[in-house]
Amino acid sequence: MTASIIIRGGREKPILNQHPWVFSGAIESVKGSPQPGEIVTVLARDGKFLGRGYWNPKSQIQVRLLTWRDEDINDDWWRARITQAVTSRELYRLDHRAYRLINAENDFLPGLVVDRYEDAESGETWLSLQALTLGIDQRKAELAQMLAEMDMTVTGVYERSDVDVRKLEGLQPTKGALIGIEPPKRITIAESGIRLQVDVRAGHKTGFYLDQAPNRILAGKLASRGPDSIKRVLNLFSYTGGFSLHTLANGADLTVNVDSSREALEMAEENTAINGYAPERAEFIQANVFELLRDFASEGQQFDLVVLDPPKFAQTAQQVERAARGYKELNLKAFQIVRPGGCLMTFSCSGAITADLFQKIVFGALADSGRQAQILRHLGPGEDHPIALTFPEGAYLKGLLLRVF
Ligand code: SAH
Repeated sequence: MTASIIIRGGREKPILNQHPWVFSGAIESVKGSPQPGEIVTVLARDGKFLGRGYWNPKSQIQVRLLTWRDEDINDDWWRARITQAVTSRELYRLDHRAYRLINAENDFLPGLVVDRYEDAESGETWLSLQALTLGIDQRKAELAQMLAEMDMTVTGVYERSDVDVRKLEGLQPTKGALIGIEPPKRITIAESGIRLQVDVRAGHKTGFYLDQAPNRILAGKLASRGPDSIKRVLNLFSYTGGFSLHTLANGADLTVNVDSSREALEMAEENTAINGYAPERAEFIQANVFELLRDFASEGQQFDLVVLDPPKFAQTAQQVERAARGYKELNLKAFQIVRPGGCLMTFSCSGAITADLFQKIVFGALADSGRQAQILRHLGPGEDHPIALTFPEGAYLKGLLLRVF
């Protein structure tokens, strides 16, 4: 028998709608004495079954629901859920060698992120795993084992739980090999023909920003089109240069990569070299984008394509206003340096900023810039980053492809 969590009257609605989070404020009482991380049954006041999930009294989100059916959560259950996530990527795998295998809540596995990196040269495959919650942290060894058994091509599973959000769960950041040996310092993945170096042990996130893959490929397509050709590209918050490399492959003359991280820019430079592009086609500037954009705008610099992919500005709902000011300032300056007829690809990866709000912020920036713009496309992550329809918080990455006049 699992312990029971009784929900306050009137607070059942989100659970009935299959939202996976139960906040402490929705809980009336705890029956039994569950251990942190243990599976609990969630009940309405009248005893009606609502769901089952894992419990963490230290977290604001006290229960993460795993199921809304009265079923046991045992090894077979975990294996079946992981299999569902893995098999739903089979089509994606035909074209991609690096992709997200498990997208946490959005794959109905709250707190578990797994990315798959296949080395295009050696064929070795590494899984990079993040355990974001106590419930997953306690089970990560078994989950890694299941993942490795499911895919015989897996060379090793490496943990990248060195993230601050774990503090909200009472956990310290941690990383290291879960299965097999440590991955090498560099894995070379292929993204639509482009080679990209990934450092699974120390790169950002699980090593790379896999979520932006379709948008990097789209940047390449833009560059390959004739009449309004993209020759000068400004890649702001470039990380290891992904967006630039795709435009170089498709005929851009010059890419300017800007990032505050020296290591990221060094890898961007390596990436340019291993893809065989002449050094004079790529510049690497270590700078704060806010300051650099001010200079570029006042100097009257012009680019055919500007990519603006800042880090997450709003960590919480309280930070939305401040974040909005940051996005507005960046977009205003970006509008000023796009040559008339050129394009701006602008993004936000803050979960607390909705696509609608983001569009309003960009509109505000446009109004102040005195320019005119059209939305050519609404942007988001690829199909390897599904968003559960019951979990709007999952839609963290949103963007706009704009033509600017
Ligand atoms: N577009 C990249 C991902 C960008 S992630 C890709 O496709 O791979 C955001 C990047 O912004 C990180 O590399 C981080 O080092 C950098 N960064 C964060 N704050 C910055 C700032 N104020 N100025 C410049 N770079 C910054």
